[in-house]
Amino acid sequence: MPGPNNNSTATAGQEGRGLGAQGLGAAALAVASPLPRDVNVSFEFFPPKTEQMEQTLWTCVERLAPLAPSFVSVTYGAGGTTRERTHATVLKIRKQTDIKPAAHLTCVGASRDEVDAIAQRYWDEGIDHIVALRGDPAEDAGGYIPHPDGYAYASDLVAGLKKIGDFKISVAAYAETHPEAKSPEDDLDNLKRKIDAGATQAITQFFFDVDVYLRFLERVRAAGITVPIVPGILPVTNFARVVQFSGLCGATVPPWMADLFEGLDDDPETRKLVAATVAAEQCRVLNANGVKDFHFYTLNRADLTFAICRILGVKPRAATNGKVG
Ligand SMILES: Cc1cc2nc3c(=O)[nH]c(=O)nc-3n(C[C@H](O)[C@H](O)[C@H](O)COP(=O)(O)OP(=O)(O)OC[C@H]3O[C@@H](n4cnc5c(N)ncnc54)[C@H](O)[C@@H]3O)c2cc1C
Repeated sequence: MPGPNNNSTATAGQEGRGLGAQGLGAAALAVASPLPRDVNVSFEFFPPKTEQMEQTLWTCVERLAPLAPSFVSVTYGAGGTTRERTHATVLKIRKQTDIKPAAHLTCVGASRDEVDAIAQRYWDEGIDHIVALRGDPAEDAGGYIPHPDGYAYASDLVAGLKKIGDFKISVAAYAETHPEAKSPEDDLDNLKRKIDAGATQAITQFFFDVDVYLRFLERVRAAGITVPIVPGILPVTNFARVVQFSGLCGATVPPWMADLFEGLDDDPETRKLVAATVAAEQCRVLNANGVKDFHFYTLNRADLTFAICRILGVKPRAATNGKVG
């Protein structure tokens, strides 16, 4: 997502307070205001591969469930490699907690029949929220080629899912433009196609500069897209890995972040404090600009996300919300 944000002066839309009048500087000052009271959070997990990873995931779920997230989502490994594990994790969350799980589903490398069968199974089991994605080709595939009998793009997948059931459908959005898009405008058109096909909200790829998201939101609203565009927040647990992954998915890591994390490789405690501060600041500034919904990429670790939620005014609720068996 290397594309620059454009400088549209349209207002930020339903989550924004209208930057034109207020300006970013004024909004940023509002961060020292009392804790927000009306923030909704959701969390992304990945399906565990081993018994030990399963333990780690459930410790994380147990810690975060009392925050009463609006939903939690479970990723689908590259090329559908976690099909059964994603399914098992989604069902386990549904059965053993009070939180609503959403299943990620990609269409890369699969026929429509295969994808439809997975979606039908979810629908029959009462899982009514899908995060619908194209997915990425294998590294040695030489770029993305649609499956001859498959859904070519996420917008086609969304349309296919809507024929199976009245799913809630989340799709991906890219504040810094998807790396394969011809242009930021093309990518925005693609987002609109996904919404027009029936998606009910979008979740953004992670970003670190708040301004990047706010300018993107302005462009989204100016394009007539009215559904929630939920910012994806990545608390940084391993800076080197974030830099590597950002390179692949087109997210920019600002120089000030490299400065902040420099020399902390062998100091996990300080690294964690810095990471929590960076993400909390990012979220508070977003909130000061009217953003109320946040999606956290937890990487199956609860500590940073839990702390950031508290700074957003999201605290554990009654024990029933955290029922985990
Ligand atoms: C919130 C979120 C969750 C994710 N979860 C997963 C996951 O669980 N598993 C996983 O493997 N990956 C996941 N990804 C990564 C995602 O699969 C990749 O970013 C992938 O490269 C694009 O997926 P998409 O759904 O955005 O694709 P699309 O919306 O289909 O877009 C892909 C590219 O094709 C372009 N395009 C779209 N339609 C056309 C057309 N008709 N002609 C030409 N170009 C077109 C778009 O502009 C874009 O550049 C996730 C990403 C996000 C943001």
